[in-house]
Amino acid sequence: LPVIEVCGASRRYDDGPPALHEVSLTVRPGEAVAVLGPSGSGKSTLLNLIAGLDRPDAGTVTVDGVRVDRLGEAGSALFRRSRIGMVFQFFNLLDDLTVSDNVALPARLAGVGRAEADRRAAELLELLGVDRHARSHPGRLSGGERQRVAVARALVNRPALLLADEPTGALDTAAGEDVSALLGALRAEGQTVVVVTHDLALARSCTDRTVRIADGRITEDVPSSRAVAPE
Ligand code: ADP
Ligand code: ADP
Repeated sequence: LPVIEVCGASRRYDDGPPALHEVSLTVRPGEAVAVLGPSGSGKSTLLNLIAGLDRPDAGTVTVDGVRVDRLGEAGSALFRRSRIGMVFQFFNLLDDLTVSDNVALPARLAGVGRAEADRRAAELLELLGVDRHARSHPGRLSGGERQRVAVARALVNRPALLLADEPTGALDTAAGEDVSALLGALRAEGQTVVVVTHDLALARSCTDRTVRIADGRITEDVPSSRAVAPE
């Protein structure tokens, strides 16, 4: 069963040109896919459809066996919380909470008990090499460390799918390479990952497959080792 099956999805905003035009994309369990394209090409629109944050005007979107384009707002929030982990460019951590509580929060919201949520948080923070910051607040960490915490938070409910939107976009080169190595390690563990980026190096270093989007259409779908910069 594919983790993602987008069939003929189209989306336009108001009277603009289609932000997505009849896009189809299948992602199988354990695949790591980069969605690459310039600003305005439709990457975020596609990600939002997959995450159930937006609906297509036409076509279907199935994630982990669920027709997310048919879910209502509450159903979609619940689905996202339990089956999808999301990582953003600007981390979106809560600075009022400790690092550990940030990571545990999605588990708590999903109904996991305090002790089990804390145990999962500790395990993930150790795995991602930021356990020494468990009791700090995110504001005290570097950008790269914060993104590691954000990845830990995204994984705490053991999602079928990790969605990352420009995860290295706010990081310097060294921290960006660090986070991309981390995504590569998750892929090696069999985590299904979709990374939206305009960074070809990121696509090549931590994904199996690169899907290129231009003007709302998929123009290329190749093994990442063969992805090259457009001329
Ligand atoms: P990308 O993520 O590749 O930068 P987007 O999916 O954000 O591209 O945008 C695709 C196109 O849709 C762009 O032309 C953008 O201006 C337009 N667009 C995106 N979101 C909205 C919105 N909420 N309202 C109107 N137009 C939008
Ligand atoms: P990115 O390329 O990183 O996705 P964008 O600047 O394209 O960033 O979009 C940032 C946010 O603004 C997104 O939520 C997108 O849906 C929204 N957006 C993009 N273009 C428009 C637009 N023309 N009108 C309204 N909202 C837009």
